[in-house]
Amino acid sequence: MVRIIHHDLLILGSGIAGLRAALAASIASKGKLDIGMLSKIQLMRSHSVSAEGGTAAVLRPEEGDSHELHAWDTVKGSDFLADQDVVFKFVEIMPSEIRTLDKWGIPWSRREDGRIAQRPFGGHSFPRAVFAADKTGFYEMQTLYDTLLKINDFTRYDEFFVTSIKVKNKKFMGLTAIDMRTGEFLGFTAKALIIASGGAGRLFGFTTYAYTVTGDGVAMAFKAGIPIKDMEFLQFHPTGLIPSGILMTEACRGEGGYLRNKDGERFMSKYAPSMMELAPRDIVSRSIITEILEGRGFKGPRGLDYVHLDLTHLGAEKITTRLPQIREIAMKFVGVDPIEEPIPIRPVAHYSMGGIHTNIRGETPDFEGIWVAGEAGCSSLHGANRLGTNSTAECLAWGKITGEEAAKYIEKNNTSIDVDQKVFDEEESRIFKGLMQQKGTESVYKIREELKNVMDHKVGVFRDKKNLEEAVAKIKELKERIKHVEIKDKGRIYNTDLTYYMETNFVLTVAHIMAEGALRREESRGGHARRDFPKRDDEKWLKHTLAYPDGEDGVRFEYIPVTITTWKPVERKY
Ligand SMILES: Cc1cc2nc3c(=O)[nH]c(=O)nc-3n(C[C@H](O)[C@H](O)[C@H](O)COP(=O)(O)OP(=O)(O)OC[C@H]3O[C@@H](n4cnc5c(N)ncnc54)[C@H](O)[C@@H]3O)c2cc1C
Repeated sequence: MVRIIHHDLLILGSGIAGLRAALAASIASKGKLDIGMLSKIQLMRSHSVSAEGGTAAVLRPEEGDSHELHAWDTVKGSDFLADQDVVFKFVEIMPSEIRTLDKWGIPWSRREDGRIAQRPFGGHSFPRAVFAADKTGFYEMQTLYDTLLKINDFTRYDEFFVTSIKVKNKKFMGLTAIDMRTGEFLGFTAKALIIASGGAGRLFGFTTYAYTVTGDGVAMAFKAGIPIKDMEFLQFHPTGLIPSGILMTEACRGEGGYLRNKDGERFMSKYAPSMMELAPRDIVSRSIITEILEGRGFKGPRGLDYVHLDLTHLGAEKITTRLPQIREIAMKFVGVDPIEEPIPIRPVAHYSMGGIHTNIRGETPDFEGIWVAGEAGCSSLHGANRLGTNSTAECLAWGKITGEEAAKYIEKNNTSIDVDQKVFDEEESRIFKGLMQQKGTESVYKIREELKNVMDHKVGVFRDKKNLEEAVAKIKELKERIKHVEIKDKGRIYNTDLTYYMETNFVLTVAHIMAEGALRREESRGGHARRDFPKRDDEKWLKHTLAYPDGEDGVRFEYIPVTITTWKPVERKY
């Protein structure tokens, strides 16, 4: 019988969203709430630590910024797919989040006059990226974690790999997890769950994301019957370092960096004459790929042709104080000192705009007791394209909202949980009697390589019917083949053969939702650019995609309207 551990509140994930949610719930309950936080890696190694460039917020109304302007930039950036009530809620919360972090001790970079500094970022018409050099995420994580330790004696479950989310009668019942260190399989129950499990960047081969970012929470929610929203919208960041894909933050361009083709031309003048290099990411990424396809790029390794990110004119002082990590990475990984030479880059799979469907409060509408915060969720803040620095901001905003909401819910629902032991035991059997005993000659590592390959080449910056159909067919084939993999490591302790297998199942589920959603959406909007449907089609497609599980392996699609409160869609020009 599986041992079951109980808490008031479970938080799946310890990135910026998970930590902020834990803090909000703790503050709301005056430190009394009994919280369990699970992370498949050491808590502070969550991908959030690698956020570089900044966090968006309106801090200077007296210098011309406003909530309305931040909201407009976000809605326009989203190609009008963002829900506008969500966007307004977001911009209103953010200034106090920045000040709260300041109070909690974060070392924000400052201006000469001592006030919090802000720098320009793509698609923002005012410099509103608050930052701590180019290590913003690291300092945010550290500050949130330190503060949480002071006010709540929460229980950490580091290196616990969550395998499923259990619901009963459309209500949260629990999680199942493997303690990687001992191999023990455990059940967890609580009155409420906040999913803060991050994005799914590792669907792709060329990506900025850590190896751990495999869409687990999204796939597990889907399996539990919770719909996934707008997953076809994947952001390609314009500047991934060749050949590793490590992010060269947009702050490089925010601080004044240029993009140049092989003729030395600042080609963005052709595509976005007023915002140039600081146009939104979808537009800059398409411009770079167009330059490369039309023969104005440099030849790169493994087909990774590239253009240049040129910082040489910024000078040593600016580069060493504002972009120290970028310089270090460029020097260590490709032997390029950005003070002297341009950096080789190309668009790279970066951010999932889509995620688990939630309402404006981060709550899953059809399921009680489940909230989602951060990149795993989709309350429709980013629509079809996210603006840089709006993501760490979203983690903070919805971390706060969901933490407070969950704490309120727990206080009100003081009844015991209806726990079904059988469900936990069955999940243990599925893994240790099913998966671990599975026979066959397929290799999970080969399946993963083939998936990355198909996503990189057929579900990339530019898409079309033929490639997407081939991608869907290939993903279905891989979903079949993975059933014939034998997990070779039969041990219990740190069985990474097993967790890699489960992660590959998760990425396959997310890839299926993404590719099939992209095939259906016959228009171009934000991060989803179809060669065969090059225009945005508001008449047919101004709507959100919802993907539901269909039978054992299928996906069923429904569509819901976009909330438009203030701005009707217009053509996007920069
Ligand atoms: C290199 C890089 C730079 C970026 N820079 C910026 C920036 O400057 N500004 C900005 O706004 N955004 C930036 N982003 C995006 C932003 O950092 C992320 O969207 C955000 O940090 C995601 O945070 P999160 O809390 O949702 O998830 P994460 O930080 O990814 O955390 C996910 C958590 O879930 C846990 N988890 C997942 N699956 C399981 C499982 N099966 N079992 C147990 N635990 C699990 C993980 O262990 C982890 O703790 C950047 C992203 C990258 C990759």
